[in-house]
Amino acid sequence: MLKTKRQSSLTRDYYKHFPTFFSQMVSLLTCLFVAVASKPVNMESYTAGAKFDCLLFDMDDTLYPLSLGINLACRKNIQDYMISKLQIEESLVPKMCLDLYKEYGTTMAGLKVLGYDLDYDDFHACVHGTLPYEKLKPDPVLRQLLLSLPQRKIIFTNSDKAHAATVLKKLGLEDCFEGVICFETLNPSSAEEHGQERDREDSDETDGGSSADSDSPACHKRILCKPSLESMEAVIEIAKLDPKKTVSIRNHLHVRR
Ligand SMILES: [Mg+2]
Repeated sequence: MLKTKRQSSLTRDYYKHFPTFFSQMVSLLTCLFVAVASKPVNMESYTAGAKFDCLLFDMDDTLYPLSLGINLACRKNIQDYMISKLQIEESLVPKMCLDLYKEYGTTMAGLKVLGYDLDYDDFHACVHGTLPYEKLKPDPVLRQLLLSLPQRKIIFTNSDKAHAATVLKKLGLEDCFEGVICFETLNPSSAEEHGQERDREDSDETDGGSSADSDSPACHKRILCKPSLESMEAVIEIAKLDPKKTVSIRNHLHVRR
């Protein structure tokens, strides 16, 4: 059903937009590690010759370590949702969850492609509502480091707005970023139309009318998310960034101290 080869092509597309990614990453990492290792530090001296002017950060498992277990808890919640809300056979769920994630960027996006008419708010509430957020603690060193970097700093996450706000608040990093590009940013019409669809269903139930119109655009529209080429094009447009001067920083880059 799912072709894993497409993921590698998706990832290739993703990085087409960042042709100097690896050299820029080396420069950035040098800045980060030097900054952490030697304090106080004049960041201007490390960034004066930098060829990049924007840092595009992933959030989960990037601003905090994978070892906290947030990712694991999130995956379990998604699988529970697939079993309890979507009535998918339990034995199929773990592989299906992973395959959809690899193929479409998020399991949610994959479920949508398969035809599940998800209530986005309900999905996000169930998946993130019981996460062990207490494990996220303020990170003053990372905060100081981020604030000392002169580049534009933008969060680009597939998660929803509420989860992003909670994570950044728990880490004490709310004011370290120019903005957050999240699920609602990339899927504004879908989110709004889905909300309207839900309102209409509620109204229909009250009125004893018919159920949702399965031909509405919201029912068929794909979810836009990383790492698709379209999502990168959208971010470039939304943030007005120059991809040749942008470094994408994603999973597992938590700075060790
Ligand atoms: Mg991540």
